[in-house]
Amino acid sequence: MASSIRYRRILVKVSGEALMGDQGFGIDVSVADRIAADIREARELGVDISVVIGGGNIFRGVAVASKGGDRVTGDHMGMLATVINALALRTSLVKMGVDAVVLSAIAMPEICESFSQLKALAHQAAGRVVIFAGGTGNPFFTTDSAGALRAAEMGAAALFKATQVDGIYSADPKKNPDAERYDHLTHDDVLNQGLAVMDVAAVALTRENKIPIVVFSIHEKGELARILSGGGRSTIVSD
Ligand code: UDP
Repeated sequence: MASSIRYRRILVKVSGEALMGDQGFGIDVSVADRIAADIREARELGVDISVVIGGGNIFRGVAVASKGGDRVTGDHMGMLATVINALALRTSLVKMGVDAVVLSAIAMPEICESFSQLKALAHQAAGRVVIFAGGTGNPFFTTDSAGALRAAEMGAAALFKATQVDGIYSADPKKNPDAERYDHLTHDDVLNQGLAVMDVAAVALTRENKIPIVVFSIHEKGELARILSGGGRSTIVSD
């Protein structure tokens, strides 16, 4: 095991949209396989890895609420979407020989195990990649908040937030070529400047638990392992 590894235990937050690739909806299995390969590579560095997966490629609760429907029901649908994604990612990991387990915040015992912190830690200690599904299990939250919550529960040394770009910018770099990219920010910088990287609850929870957030591009193959080994490109949010 290399001694220069930056973090020995991390939680990676992968948005549902990362799984859909160039499709407008759903899961592109080749993309899920690539993300799984990146996780395997990072794990081979001797790093404990757990994952919180989003559901935005399938459903978001606000889509129901914006059309006059019940937000809570919409959020239940969104949380169910994360379970579909978690099963897809587990399938990709298992296919490439990585032992992985899905723990859902909403009980569905015929499909996957229910979340408990002790169970999650036991799976991690047994060398499995733990994939958390169902978000926090509560409406009005996001899977970013679930990422911060599970990172704290798992004792993660960092929360890796996989995004479309290689860090945090002052504005959307895809729309504004003059946007400034940051190498390092504090949690307060992110909150005070309203930087759109994770929701406020997630940033506040990581600040409270002194967990750094590492923002990196999910589209760069091998980037997870590169950053863990001291290279790569990311923005680190820490105090
Ligand atoms: N959701 C929820 N509670 C949670 C996490 C997620 O109600 O703790 C619902 C919410 O409707 C959300 C959807 O699940 O829009 C999908 O999650 P999210 O939008 O965070 O997915 P991502 O943007 O990461 O793909």
